[in-house]
Amino acid sequence: MPALTDTQTHHDQHGRYPEAITVEDFQRNLAAVQARIDAACHRVGRDPATVRLLPVSKTKPEASLRLAYAAGCRMLGENKVQEAWRKWEAMQDLTDLQWSVIGHLQTNKAKLVARFATEFQALDSLRVAEALDRRLQVEGRSLDVFVQVNTSDEASKYGLAPEDVPTFIQALPAFSALRVRGLMTLALFSGEAEQVRQCFVLLRTLRDQLRQSAPAGIGLDELSMGMSGDFEIAIEEGATVVRVGQAIFGARPLPDSYYWPSEAEAEAGKSDHDE
Ligand SMILES: *Cc1c(COP(=O)(O)O)cnc(C)c1O
Repeated sequence: MPALTDTQTHHDQHGRYPEAITVEDFQRNLAAVQARIDAACHRVGRDPATVRLLPVSKTKPEASLRLAYAAGCRMLGENKVQEAWRKWEAMQDLTDLQWSVIGHLQTNKAKLVARFATEFQALDSLRVAEALDRRLQVEGRSLDVFVQVNTSDEASKYGLAPEDVPTFIQALPAFSALRVRGLMTLALFSGEAEQVRQCFVLLRTLRDQLRQSAPAGIGLDELSMGMSGDFEIAIEEGATVVRVGQAIFGARPLPDSYYWPSEAEAEAGKSDHDE
C-alpha cells in the first residue's frame, strides 16, 4: 500500500478554472493535468500509463467538445444521458469519438445508453443492469461497466453501499452484454484531504476483497475515482481512471449542488418513476 502523502484537495478552486476557448487552451490544460497525474504517480512509484484520463464535458457546448477533440480527446464523459445523446447525435462526423456515461441512470433511459455509449460508470442496481443488457442484446452491442459504490456514506450520493457490493457482483454474469471492468466512486466533497483519501482507500480495499471471490468474467482491474479537486489523492490510492472536467474545460456555469443535489433532491431523484 502506498504511504500517505500530504497531497491536498483543490476543491477550493472550483469556479475559478478559466473557460477553455481555443485548441491551445485545451492542449495546455490537458498537458497540465497530465503533468499532475505523472507527478502523483511518481510519488507512489506508479507507471503513469496505468492511469487513464477521462475528460468530462458535461454542460459544455458542442463547440467546446469539438475543441477538446481537436486537442486529442477521443472519449468524453457526460453525466446526463439526454445531454450525452444530443451531443453524440450532433457529432456523428467524429467517428472515433467515444462516450462514457458517468451519472445515475434510470431504466427508461437504458435504451439510449445501449445505442451510443462505450462505457457506463454508474451501475448501481440490478434493474438497470437488466434493462441495459436487454437493450444491448437488441442492438447487438456490449458495454464496459463500472459498479458505483457510495464510499462517503452520504445519502445524496448514488451508488451501492459497500456491504451490498459482493452480492451484487455475483449477480452480474447473468448480463452477458455487460463487461464489468471495476468500481467507481465519488469521494466526500471536502477540503479535508484525509477524509477524501479514506473514500478512495475504501474503494480499493473493497476491490481487493472482491477479487478473491469474483465470478469468472467479472473484471475488477479498474478503479474510477478522482475528479478535478481530488484526482491526485485518488491516484496515490490506486485510481486507474480519473474523471476530470473543470480543470480541462473550465468552470461550469451551474454550481456543484446542481450535480450533487441536496439529500432531499437526491431522495426525490431516486424514487422517481423509471418506466
Ligand atoms: C462532473 C463529474 C466529474 C468531474 O468533476 P470536475 O469537478 O469537473 O472535474 C467526475 N465524476 C462525475 C460522476 C461527475 O459527474
